[in-house]
Amino acid sequence: MAWDFETEPEFQEKLDWMDHFVREEVEPMDLVFDEPGASFRTDDERTRRILEPLQKEVQERGLWACHLGPELGGKGYGQLKLALMNEILGRSQWASRVFGCQAPDTGNAEILAHYGTPQQKQKYLEPLLRGEIVSSYSMTEPQAGSDPREFKCSAFKSGDEWVIQGEKWFSSNAALAEFLIVMAITDPDVPVHQGASMFLVPTDTPGVEFVRNVGLPGEPIGEGVHGYIRYNDVRVPAENLLGGPGQAFTIAQTRLGGGRVHHAMRTVGQVRKAFDMMCERALSRHTAGSILARKQSVQNMIAESFIDIEQFRLLVLKTAWVIDKGDKNLARTYIAAVKVRTPQVMQDVVGRALHIHGSLGCSNEMPLAGMWMTAPIMGVVDGPTEVHRVTIAKQVLRDYQPSEGLWPSAHLPPRIAAAREKFAKFLELEVGNL
Ligand SMILES: Cc1cc2nc3c(=O)[nH]c(=O)nc-3n(C[C@H](O)[C@H](O)[C@H](O)COP(=O)(O)OP(=O)(O)OC[C@H]3O[C@@H](n4cnc5c(N)ncnc54)[C@H](O)[C@@H]3O)c2cc1C
Repeated sequence: MAWDFETEPEFQEKLDWMDHFVREEVEPMDLVFDEPGASFRTDDERTRRILEPLQKEVQERGLWACHLGPELGGKGYGQLKLALMNEILGRSQWASRVFGCQAPDTGNAEILAHYGTPQQKQKYLEPLLRGEIVSSYSMTEPQAGSDPREFKCSAFKSGDEWVIQGEKWFSSNAALAEFLIVMAITDPDVPVHQGASMFLVPTDTPGVEFVRNVGLPGEPIGEGVHGYIRYNDVRVPAENLLGGPGQAFTIAQTRLGGGRVHHAMRTVGQVRKAFDMMCERALSRHTAGSILARKQSVQNMIAESFIDIEQFRLLVLKTAWVIDKGDKNLARTYIAAVKVRTPQVMQDVVGRALHIHGSLGCSNEMPLAGMWMTAPIMGVVDGPTEVHRVTIAKQVLRDYQPSEGLWPSAHLPPRIAAAREKFAKFLELEVGNL
């Protein structure tokens, strides 16, 4: 019997250490260093002095960059163990950096490890894995995100160089990054999924122009970390092509799956944090003759939130398990499913926690309103919900066939007739006995 909801004791010990460490040592960083992109700045002396000893402690415990296989210095834990770890990291904006596994660097490292040449790995991957630099992924364009057929950014070969022209939008952390991984069309005569390629572009390459740094709600205009970038005839050497020509979408698929499921894992941590606040408040606030916890509508909110979190967590863990089993097709369906549920559970649970706190919940003196704002953002980042629903439906429908005639196969009259015929001799016996 292999179904099991328990964690092996040795790994549970690691999780317990992580939980204590993140709460006591890492979460305080969120409270002091919370400006946009703070955890991505590698040049801030103040944060380095706090961060580096924490990272060292994580490395000594053998918990650094656990998403990587042993050949790259990680533990090769697999997604299920990562899910349990990421639930803890999800409590803090800084925790992924402290543990060497922050997006989008994790995904970028993954594709460099898969497709990079030895020189590319040495120049870009190794410092990335050591946490010395950060990177950015530049795919979305101002006029097109979820439909790559609308992409325009292109690259052509000129002697020993590639020349990149076009615009990219929402390239996270681009201004802080040492290099950008840029998707560009290299063969306009074939469908984009076969005609786009990936390039490694150092951010200081001439022609890389930051039109704006776009921010999220609450951040001042122009001071965010999502780069609107114009590539003005940006020249990179031929060896900066990542993978082969036309391979961009195969490469992109390698990184996006992991990214989506890791966001979902961290969301479990976020919604549990909101749930803890909700329960504490329900037991503490006295109004209209009783504490909130005694009111049935509040009890409903707590019960629904408990169920939402448990359901979501099981889906995330099952997704991790499916990925570990290696069935890529099935994993696609499950990854799309957690991607769809991530913003929903965030909106519902955090929304209820906020509501139970009343005006305090709406204020900037609690983290709830800020957390809640991330729900719609999670519904867009890495592709909108609608697109992932389409993926699920298409994948699921592969296992079904249309009915043969006019009526569905579950149509009752012919099924009852067939069942009667099957049991005819018993039915006759019954009649005979009468
Ligand atoms: C916080 C954040 C970080 C990001 N980081 C990066 C990054 O680092 N690098 C990068 O390249 N991009 C990044 N993105 C961009 C992200 O990948 C895109 O926003 C996403 O793919 C959607 O593209 P879009 O914004 O152009 O929306 P659109 O494609 O214009 O979609 C807008 C809306 O149209 C509807 N829609 C779209 N397609 C369909 C469909 N097939 N069926 C039904 N309805 C549909 C949906 O309601 C959707 O929300 C980031 C975005 C966010 C919010």
